[in-house]
Amino acid sequence: MNLTVNEIFYSIQGESVYAGLPCVFVRLTGCNLRCRYCDTRYAYDEGSAMAVGPIMDRVASFDCNLVEITGGEPLLQDRTPELAAALLAKGYEVLVETNGSLDIDRVDRRCSRIMDVKCPSSGEASKNDADNLERLTANDQVKFVIGDHEDFRFAVQTLDRLPAVLPHDRILFSRIAERLPPDRLAGWMLDANIRARMQIQLHKVIWPERDRGV
Ligand code: SF4
Repeated sequence: MNLTVNEIFYSIQGESVYAGLPCVFVRLTGCNLRCRYCDTRYAYDEGSAMAVGPIMDRVASFDCNLVEITGGEPLLQDRTPELAAALLAKGYEVLVETNGSLDIDRVDRRCSRIMDVKCPSSGEASKNDADNLERLTANDQVKFVIGDHEDFRFAVQTLDRLPAVLPHDRILFSRIAERLPPDRLAGWMLDANIRARMQIQLHKVIWPERDRGV
């Protein structure tokens, strides 16, 4: 059985604690959520069948040790754990970006799982798998995408439920670019003395006109 792959590309990591580093992205097709702000709708259905071997060959062609498996929602596909394991076995540093609605332990804990906790304005906060908070390791990252102050309050309340093992600099406060100016989010974080990392989607600053392959 194959995976369904939307795109494989080489770019600058725009989010997470790895922001700024060159990275190979494997974007898998399909998502079980429909966030209001989604900027990868093209990944819901578009894709081609590929076996793990050819995906590995394509990744190797970029000669980069950092690889992110993303989507869509990569944990939807049965062979994603196999792809992650194959990359780890070859010595890649593997990131898996996931929407937080499915069991993150489907992939090896040696991956850094970058897990969303969906905030209210996404329209999908009811889909968060609360058990995932217990599954987080010191190697993982948690991301809140914030569009308004209600989202911010929700994120702050959730901080208390994160495991102590997760370092505060691996907690990411991101913003919905169209809805929340960066200085407003920064001000809220400083006023509330939040111990987390604010991030801006770097790839959108570098390539504001491109919506694919970055
Ligand atoms: S989880 Fe990600 S890919 Fe899926 S709808 Fe939400 S933003 Fe889009």
